[in-house]
Amino acid sequence: MNTIKKAYEYLNRLTPLKIDCGKFCNAACCKGDENTGMILLPNEEFICDFGNIKSDTDRNKIIICNGECDREKRPYSCRIFPLFPYTTQTKNGVKIEIKIDPRAANVCPLNDIKMMDKNFIRAVRRSAKILATDKEYLRFLTETTSLLKEIEQLKSLLNL
Ligand code: SF4
Ligand code: SF4
Repeated sequence: MNTIKKAYEYLNRLTPLKIDCGKFCNAACCKGDENTGMILLPNEEFICDFGNIKSDTDRNKIIICNGECDREKRPYSCRIFPLFPYTTQTKNGVKIEIKIDPRAANVCPLNDIKMMDKNFIRAVRRSAKILATDKEYLRFLTETTSLLKEIEQLKSLLNL
């Protein structure tokens, strides 16, 4: 739990743009429905103790909110949106690459990482480095990375 809170600290004040990007899209990423949720890190539901917590098809839990939350308690997935730290284990250690999450493409107008605040990108990387020191969070990051790579391949095959 402390590891999650340390990861949060990097992202308490930073957002994808230096200005409020929610003004461009009417905060589209907070406008899900009862079937759309944000994936939680292992045990993150004990911090994000609001909304409706469900299990997804894997081992992960998801949170379905009503579009409003206490900023201090917003989940890691919301803090790093629309990015994800692609994490792989190599013989030299853990490799982390920050990329746009392909699941965000239908929601978020920020479709080029170059337009984002470098401090935000750096904070996502630092937060992931902290998470990767714990084997459960490392599992989450590497498994999600595999899933995102599959989504990218599928999109490419379908020319999406
Ligand atoms: S959808 Fe993208 S641009 Fe809109 S508020 Fe969320 S992160 Fe910002
Ligand atoms: S938990 Fe908070 S930040 Fe995340 S989608 Fe819901 S309202 Fe938005």
